[in-house]
Amino acid sequence: MSEILGYKIFGGSKDELLTTVFQKKDKVNIISGNPEVLYNGLKDDQLQENFNDDRSIIIPDGIGVVYTSKLLRDPVREKIAGIEVMEAIIQRCDRDGKSIYLLGANQAVVENCRSKLLDKYPKLHIAGIHNGYFDIDNCESIIDEINAASPEALFVAMGSPKQDKFITKYMQRLNVRIFMGVGGSFDVLAGKVNRAPKWMLKCNLEWLYRVYKEPFRIKRLGAIPKFMWMALTDRRNCDSKK
Ligand code: UDP
Repeated sequence: MSEILGYKIFGGSKDELLTTVFQKKDKVNIISGNPEVLYNGLKDDQLQENFNDDRSIIIPDGIGVVYTSKLLRDPVREKIAGIEVMEAIIQRCDRDGKSIYLLGANQAVVENCRSKLLDKYPKLHIAGIHNGYFDIDNCESIIDEINAASPEALFVAMGSPKQDKFITKYMQRLNVRIFMGVGGSFDVLAGKVNRAPKWMLKCNLEWLYRVYKEPFRIKRLGAIPKFMWMALTDRRNCDSKK
């Protein structure tokens, strides 16, 4: 476990994470902790409270977070990509006959994502899907639908902070055990967007590939230096290293 700006970041491997998630019997919220998500959390008390809740596990899903942990001399073992965790949870649910629910992205993407998953895992129980274009403060029918389906895992792909706000608001009320915000992962699984080539993933350049493919992302990179600067100048680090 590594501590950055009061957040406890999971410091083990992906396999250890999966063991922790599946050993728990209680609800768990897996947060893909990249600098943007964590920075958004600092600006919203409810999100921050949810991220720091005992039921939350923040994974280091961004090289900005991995480097920050190293610079603070409290390193996490490795970057854990949210999309890989999502796929591992799906595999496990498929094996154990448990269901999943896909919430997010546009209608065509979420439908394609379902068919691509069923091509790969023909017996996978997808208890429901819904696109991510709705008002999260007025969505009782969606909450009822998810509760009726009561899936083991709910993947929410609405980007940050919308997906995290949705989970924070409804986690208590939803009959779901594993919650996970997965950003643009449905676009990747549906084949709309590719992940970076392997060599770029290896060199920690996935962010560069995503900006090259979708230049509007460049603005969002600003969260990385802001987050790192805040972390490196945070008094709590200075105090704890004394
Ligand atoms: N999205 C959504 N509802 C919204 C806004 C966005 O479902 O109101 C979806 C969008 O279609 C895309 C995903 O959220 O599938 C955006 O994820 P993004 O790429 O921003 O996330 P990242 O992977 O960068 O965290």
